Amino acid sequence: MAARLEWYCDRACSPGCVKMKPKARSNVEVATATPVPPNDRTGSESTSGLINLEKEIISCRKCPRLVEYREEVARVKRRAYRDWTYWGRPVPGFGDPKAKIVIVGLAPAAHGANRTGRMFTGDRSGDFLYEQLYRAGFANQPNSSHAGDGLTLRDVWISAAVRCAPPENKPLPEEIRNCAPYLERELGLLNPQVVLALGAIALHTYLDLLKRQRLIVSRTPYKFAHGASFQLPSPLPHLFATYHPSQQNTQTVRLTPEMFAKVLREIRKFLER
Ligand code: SF4
Repeated sequence: MAARLEWYCDRACSPGCVKMKPKARSNVEVATATPVPPNDRTGSESTSGLINLEKEIISCRKCPRLVEYREEVARVKRRAYRDWTYWGRPVPGFGDPKAKIVIVGLAPAAHGANRTGRMFTGDRSGDFLYEQLYRAGFANQPNSSHAGDGLTLRDVWISAAVRCAPPENKPLPEEIRNCAPYLERELGLLNPQVVLALGAIALHTYLDLLKRQRLIVSRTPYKFAHGASFQLPSPLPHLFATYHPSQQNTQTVRLTPEMFAKVLREIRKFLER
């Protein structure tokens, strides 16, 4: 479980003393070896499968470059987060174990999910995504600052093409291939009605996975575009795509809240048809 730390000193000296040790830092959740608890996961075959998968994911070290990077970032930290103990591991999926929608992102951000241990938590992309999910009725609150902030999702599970933060947000093709089996197993356990790909890399990762499973012949008919929607061969989930809510896209208004909200409305309509 996450813990709260504050500072103390054996010698009871002044607050600025360099001998002070972390005991419980107020307002800062600190990641530990225990997986971040997702929404209620008790009682079903799929939930126990998700718990086992989560344990496997968070101990994965298959990609040496990413292992080195995620741990280095967690050691060095960003100045603004120097009081945090970074998660510094692969980030498991998060959300409703009975989800009808699986959202596939790219990868954890170095100082976002790699710090907080929860997908899209603690960075600008997450601020954008969770606000939109909240407005569309898929989340109980619009913000996501740390793993113990009370956020729960309804009908939505958030996953990623790659579970470890990559340098410059650019995973290598072999790293995407290494990580794809986790997404495949997650989708098998959740059996969603909709997959929403955030960006072209997430879309291609999902389509390549279907190709390897011989569920589609080629990804050529499924070209990435914001707002694209594809009927895949039955019984595969319906596929939607949007631009990734990265700061680069949202700050340049390539992706606006209205554009993202429209895609979520389309998905809602599809589920209620
Ligand atoms: S990116 Fe995926 S496969 Fe590679 S080390 Fe991280 S969890 Fe393992």
